Amino acid sequence: MTNKNLFVAFLILFLLACSEDGEQNETTGASDATTTSTNNSTSIDTPSVGGNDISILAEKFYYNNAVSVVVNDDNLVISTKDLPDHKSAYYNTNNPLYESYNEPNNPSFKLNPNNILEQDIVMTIPRFPKIDISHEATPMGPMGIAVNSVAIFNQMAAPGDDILEELNTFDQYEGHPAPGGVYHYHIEPVWLTQTLGEDAFIGLLLDGFPVYGPVENSLRLTNEDLDDYHGHIHDTPEFTEGIYHYHITDELPWINGDGFYGTPGNITR
Ligand SMILES: [Zn+2]
Ligand SMILES: [Zn+2]
Repeated sequence: MTNKNLFVAFLILFLLACSEDGEQNETTGASDATTTSTNNSTSIDTPSVGGNDISILAEKFYYNNAVSVVVNDDNLVISTKDLPDHKSAYYNTNNPLYESYNEPNNPSFKLNPNNILEQDIVMTIPRFPKIDISHEATPMGPMGIAVNSVAIFNQMAAPGDDILEELNTFDQYEGHPAPGGVYHYHIEPVWLTQTLGEDAFIGLLLDGFPVYGPVENSLRLTNEDLDDYHGHIHDTPEFTEGIYHYHITDELPWINGDGFYGTPGNITR
């Protein structure tokens, strides 16, 4: 090999090395899991295919006269009266939290015929949530619970109703009561994202995986950022080693997609 050829060979090697660096950076930027691993070298092996202890979230349920959490060896038992701590046009008019609908941005608003009534709902949720490849469909009725005691429902309206029409019955904090008085959120609970932060932990689904607000690292997420179940795996402030978690987005299906990521616990009401 002549000196010139040797030089060209080195040059090619050098360029190859550079381009590999470039690809690696791109991957780091594109993948949350990889970002996690560069921030925290122990994280990549522990994402939530099982093993995260969610008992640290018990204290986040703050509305103590309406929701309580008991931490057991294998589960969290969350009991709720399902009474929002914010004002609503669906409280009885003699309730201090009653407020008539006052959002000028939805002239199509119409009250549904239900009122908010105290519930007795108990959710038994896995303490160490695990992926379940059957991805069971979420139920009608509560599929999870927000930190202020309010039930979280999926993206389906009651049989015969259209969820996009039901949007017009959501109160000033984007919730409404079902027949029987069960108050619930299908979309972003704006009271919680306004008071706790748009990137905050908002609640749990029945499978034990946490739900976060629509913002992450100052970016508002879209459905394209998430998998079919409406989540992804990486570190969060509460789980620095990484966990599967759902995110709320502005678009249908809002909170959950095609079923639970993990094995759901059970619910009595
Ligand atoms: Zn509803
Ligand atoms: Zn996330």
